[in-house]
Amino acid sequence: MISRHKSEQLFEKAKHLFPGGVNSPVRAFRSVDGAPLFIKKGDGAHIWDEDGNQFIDFCCSWGPLILGHNHPQIREKITETLQNGTSFGAPTVLENELGQLILDRNPFIDKIRFVSSGTEAVMSGVRLARGYTGKNKIVKFEGCYHGHLDALLVKAGSGLITLGTASSAGIPEGFTRETLVLPLNDETAVLKCIEEYGHDIACIIIEPIPANNGLLLQEKSYLEFLRKVCTENNILLFFDEVISGFRVAFSGAAELYGIRPDIVTYGKIIGGGLPVGAYGASDELMACISPLGDVYQAGTLSGNPVAMSAGIAQLNICAQDGFYEDQEKRTRFFVDKVNAFAKANEIAFEMVTIGSIFWLTFGKHDAIRKANEIDPSSMLDFKKMYGELLNHGIYIGPSGYEVGFISQAHTYEILELAADRFCEVLAQLK
Ligand SMILES: *Cc1c(COP(=O)(O)O)cnc(C)c1O
Repeated sequence: MISRHKSEQLFEKAKHLFPGGVNSPVRAFRSVDGAPLFIKKGDGAHIWDEDGNQFIDFCCSWGPLILGHNHPQIREKITETLQNGTSFGAPTVLENELGQLILDRNPFIDKIRFVSSGTEAVMSGVRLARGYTGKNKIVKFEGCYHGHLDALLVKAGSGLITLGTASSAGIPEGFTRETLVLPLNDETAVLKCIEEYGHDIACIIIEPIPANNGLLLQEKSYLEFLRKVCTENNILLFFDEVISGFRVAFSGAAELYGIRPDIVTYGKIIGGGLPVGAYGASDELMACISPLGDVYQAGTLSGNPVAMSAGIAQLNICAQDGFYEDQEKRTRFFVDKVNAFAKANEIAFEMVTIGSIFWLTFGKHDAIRKANEIDPSSMLDFKKMYGELLNHGIYIGPSGYEVGFISQAHTYEILELAADRFCEVLAQLK
């Protein structure tokens, strides 16, 4: 067993400082055993905790670090920018540089606006959808996460189409009344919803690759169907690509599937490990945003030069030819190795994957495309596996509903070693 002595002590201290000892809930290790690891440093595919344990990291800060930890080019660019100060609240050339880098390669949006988090991007995008259409309701899907804005912290009630009920305390009913919640991968539910509420629906928001509640891969035909019914009913199609953007392809799932969203949000990878979010759309839609239009949206630290620098350094590498093909090839190598072992040993375990994302599933089942198809008891299997993975030097997000990420720093050599360790743990738990 790895020692977590120092992490335990630090966690005790943190509990006096922060609710639950953390500044974001899933970090508290509530779904698995023991104290959360306090991370001291990261380099490439590895992280080290305060007790000195080394891990191959598949959390990658929940996705942003697609080049791995402490990438020299990002570090250099940040350091260079830092010499001139950290923030001005006035335009800088770095915003132009990152904006141009993205828009030159993204055929789906004409303009972009930088904010400081994914939540902020989605919140602003929803306001834009309502401001542009003059309609009130938004449709979301059970199993998609869009950040912690009031209007989207909703869950479905019973029934096919349900008015959202808040999934958090502190959200007045009036704030969620305009949010409709549907099951994923269900065309009938969408059609019924539009029939009933279509005249007042501003947008349908979806993670085109839902990856915050397991990896609920949707069929391309379903996403195409959403595009079609949105167009036919004057509803905006909103792709929340905070996790899939710059991950499965430079321009995200929209590029991978060849489907044009009306509004798109980015976060995570876009900031190279610093806090950046963004939303983008056509010129016509973006003309609604202040100061051009009357949809208000602002931010003291928006477009922060240090954060822009990290994004520029990271995305310049992501934009290179073959980057995403290579990411996917290495991921396949890793996933195939573990899956083949599970199959050969008749272990009911499978990694589901797309691009450089993977998700651990337990038990025999068909493709899982809806939130309610996830067997809650599989989370017990995850919990058992988690402690053993840590003992074997593998770090992944501490919840069975979270996905894992592979970075450019995860070489074949490292992935081979990681796959062997996964297989050892699987064999041990069998
Ligand atoms: C992470 C995420 C968010 C929230 O982003 P934060 O930066 O954590 O606020 C929103 N939508 C999706 C799809 C995400 O993966």
